[in-house]
This record gives sequence, structure tokens and C-alpha cells, in this order.
Amino acid sequence: MRKSTFSTFIKPVRRCAALLCLFAAVLGSGGCGRKAADPYVRTAFAFDTAVSISYYDNKDSAAVSEAMDRLEYYEKIFSRTLEGSELHEINARLAEAAAEGLGDVRVPVSELMYRALSLALDYAEITDGAFDPTLGRLLELYDFSGTEHTVPTAEERAEILSHCGRQKLKLEPSADTAYPYQLTVTDPAIVIDLGGMAKGFIADCLKQELRANAVSSAIINLGGNILVIGNKPDGSPYGIGVLKPEAGSSDYLTSFKVTDASAVTSGSYQRFFEKDGVTYHHILDPATGLPAESGLLSVTVVTESSAAADLLSTAFFVMGEAKAAAFLENYTNVDAYFVDENMNLNKYLHK
Ligand code: AMP
Ligand code: MG
Repeated sequence: MRKSTFSTFIKPVRRCAALLCLFAAVLGSGGCGRKAADPYVRTAFAFDTAVSISYYDNKDSAAVSEAMDRLEYYEKIFSRTLEGSELHEINARLAEAAAEGLGDVRVPVSELMYRALSLALDYAEITDGAFDPTLGRLLELYDFSGTEHTVPTAEERAEILSHCGRQKLKLEPSADTAYPYQLTVTDPAIVIDLGGMAKGFIADCLKQELRANAVSSAIINLGGNILVIGNKPDGSPYGIGVLKPEAGSSDYLTSFKVTDASAVTSGSYQRFFEKDGVTYHHILDPATGLPAESGLLSVTVVTESSAAADLLSTAFFVMGEAKAAAFLENYTNVDAYFVDENMNLNKYLHK
């Protein structure tokens, strides 16, 4: 695996014996009317979802205001659909190159984009392609977050998949000091999508920024991607619940305690549409180009890094429980909760 800033977020067994939500949900921080022990909460809409930061610092925390302001900044880097975002520009550049019939295309990218792509490629590698950041063309057709849903035919899927795959993206150190971070794409018919990991990556960035500004206890919730900083101010760990995987449900199937960790859920009930009596959900199997059918309704991954939890929950949903369980054998700091189609909950905990 190429060395990236975050590549040690999950720890292989051989190197270290201690390890590696919609959604998971934070327990005990909801309700109306703030009591003295309750956190302050700032909310916004970003990344096409509700986001919030809960904190105890002080109501007018400048650090939290700054973090909330940064949401837009991150969206302008990682959104595939927002015109003018860095990812949108990269994909536009690839489309132009494809139209001109070019082969390899080199694109300068920002440091943040470089780091996110490095992680995406690392996890694409270790999950044997279950996580695939090159499925953008299929996602454009399905249009899960919009209304123009097209279900690609078998021929269209085969044609598009022949232009997908992690092997077509290369990140190499560049000698060009003006553009130190470069991406080489060997097939410009690719459309890059980071929807399966961007929220986790951004949550890790926000955590770093909040910590640097002396925030020692907070919950970052990016549409159910939850990352907790430290413990509650009284020293007790935060409680997280795994929601029943049904649209709109607020029932928990189980709960657990965390300190300085992230819990991220991927589920077929989170985004889907129905066409001609068939339900299509938003997590695609890169082998078929169809919504993954792995016998699961949801997967919740708990580990220190929110990017890792986000990447793995998407990948595990595609892999299915048996393959994911075999993967988990090799890592020592990742917990996972699988809910199958019969609503059975199976836990893999490394305590
Ligand atoms: P998540 O909710 O984190 O599991 O991510 C789902 C999102 O990731 C989708 O909305 C797509 O943007 C993207 N996606 C879908 N299938 C995959 C896949 N197999 N690998 C990587 N990203 C995917
Ligand atoms: Mg994900």
C-alpha cells in the first residue's frame, strides 16, 4: 500500500495487537430545552444532509463557528455535483480529454484532494475493489440524490465498468514545485466520486481543527457520520446507538460507548428510488454496476478515524458479512455491526 498520511488509521494484526449511522445516532444528546449538562448544538445543511456540532465549550465558541464555516469550504472541494468544486473541475477536465480522444491525463490537485484520493485508493486496494472511487458515471445515471433516475442497461453497465477501476488512477510525487500534488488518470472516461468517504474524511479534518483550537469534548455529526472528540466533560464516554435500518426509524438495535472514535453506517435504506416496482439503493457493487445485494440492510463501523469508518462501512456493505468478517480478522482496531435482511444484528468487537 502506498504510504499516505492516514494509512495507519487501521492497524493490521501483524503490526500491532491493539485494533483498528440512516445511521448510528448519538444517545442522550437530543430533546428540547437545554439542561446545564446538555451540549450546545450548531446545525447546518451541507453535503446534501443535516450536519451538526455539539459541544460544551461556551455558547459563542469561536472554534465551533470556524468549523461550521469550513463546511462550505470542504463541500467546494469534494462535491461531485456542485459546479465549480475541485472534484467537479477535475471530472470536467477528464471529460474534455475523453472528448479529444486523449490517453493519460495529468491533473494538478490540492493537497487535501491528494490526501483523500490517496486514502480512497489505499482502501480500494485493501478491500479488493469493493470501495471504488471511479463509479461516478454510473452514479450520474442513477442520480440517487436527484430525480432524473436512469437505470443503465446491462450493455451500458458493461461499457461504463470497462472504464472504471482504481488501477486507472495514479498518485505520484511530482517534481514540479508549482504543482506538487498530481493525479494521473489513464482512462479519461472515468468520473471520480468520493461520496462514500468524503464526510468521514471531512469529520477527521474538523476534529483536527477543533482540537487545535482547544476543543476537548464535542460530537461532529455529518448526516449520521458521527465522530466524538474525547469524553463528555464529566469524563464518561459518549453513547452511540445503531438505528434500526428503516427509513425514518428512530429505534435503536443496540448501543455502545466510545471515546475519541467515529461510528459510520452504510445502509440500503438511506438513499434509494423505485422504478417499475424495483427498488434501487445507492451503494453499488463495482462488479455489476447494480446496487449491492449482499444480504445486508446496514453496516456500522466503529474506529478512531471517521474516514476509515466511512470507507469501510461502504466497502463492507458491498462485500457482505462473511467477506467483511474475514477482513476484520486482520485488523485490531475496528468494530463492526452488521444488520442482515432478517433484521438480525451481528457484532464483531475487538475488546
Ligand atoms: P456511504 O453512504 O458512505 O456508504 O456511501 C454511499 C455513496 O458512496 C454513494 O452515494 C456513492 O456516492 C458512493 N458509492 C456507491 N457505491 C460505492 C462503492 N462501491 N465504492 C465507493 N463509493 C461508492
Ligand atoms: Mg461510506
